[in-house]
Amino acid sequence: MIEVKNLVKNYGDKRALNNISFTVGEDEILGFLGPNGAGKSTTMNILTGYISMTSGEVKIGGIDILKDPIGAKRLIGYLPEQPPLYPEMTVTEYLDFVCELKGVKDRAEQVKAIAAKTGVGNVLERRIGNLSKGYRQRVGLAAALAGDPKVLILDEPTVGLDPGQIVEIRSLIRSLGKAHTVILSSHILSEISAVCDRVLIINDGKIAAEDTPENIKRSVFGSDLRILIRADGTDDEIRAVLDKLSEDLTYEKRKDTDEYELAFGNRESREISRKLFFAFANANLPILMQREEEITLEDVFMKITANSRNSEITSSAGKEGKIE
Ligand code: ADP
Ligand code: MG
Repeated sequence: MIEVKNLVKNYGDKRALNNISFTVGEDEILGFLGPNGAGKSTTMNILTGYISMTSGEVKIGGIDILKDPIGAKRLIGYLPEQPPLYPEMTVTEYLDFVCELKGVKDRAEQVKAIAAKTGVGNVLERRIGNLSKGYRQRVGLAAALAGDPKVLILDEPTVGLDPGQIVEIRSLIRSLGKAHTVILSSHILSEISAVCDRVLIINDGKIAAEDTPENIKRSVFGSDLRILIRADGTDDEIRAVLDKLSEDLTYEKRKDTDEYELAFGNRESREISRKLFFAFANANLPILMQREEEITLEDVFMKITANSRNSEITSSAGKEGKIE
């Protein structure tokens, strides 16, 4: 549904996007993850035709956005980082206005439908300026849905919302993903893993990783689960037990603690627990604490961005001959 090839964007001397390529399938929710300044909004602004690209190719539903910008735009609903809401307008007036811009035929009907979908049906006659941030965000989302576009591009849709509102907006986005292609950006990692089928991690204008959250975790850490364990024994005794335990086990002692962090190649955690119990019991080392921990996208993210920070130091050292 969306094809992006070799996308480059320069702002003056600064290269904000450095050769980005990706595709998004129909009815897929793709998460754009990256630190502030990574290039998420720039990519979304190009996809939606708000700013121009320096070079590259973007197709929406097979339509090249340079060859037929209007045709491509018709397929897209966009919730920008700062939605252009008019505080003096009521919600109905605003949504009706957006429908008019998008050339929707039966506007009254459409306003009712998008308002119902986004849960703003009860505030239709309120002024936008008097709405809470959560409701304003819903109105922005409703505006993106006007004209029932196939593709939804949502830039940081939960920024500034409280935890309850975040949960609601997320479940709304998830349900929208069933009939739309959705690209969603966030710098909140748990949000991306909760909502998205596939994740694209952008760092410094480049794609650093792209896969399902599970696969990314596995490829970066070898597992998506780890177990913390503390046993009543010396380091040597504990290591001896762990070394014999399982081929696909990797472990390390957590800094400044007497806890060991274990990662297994697969996640048959009941099986792992049983193995650990008997292995330590046979060695006469009581397990004092055992806890399972999901590897989070945050762990992945820290690792990926740490690597690229290092390579950045190396490459700029190469260029400048020194590390600044
Ligand atoms: P993100 O949305 O991931 O936080 P952006 O796409 O907004 O990142 O920005 C990517 C980079 O491009 C940043 O370094 C930012 O400072 C720069 N940038 C964004 N917009 C402009 C602009 N209009 N002019 C100059 N630089 C910009
Ligand atoms: Mg942004």
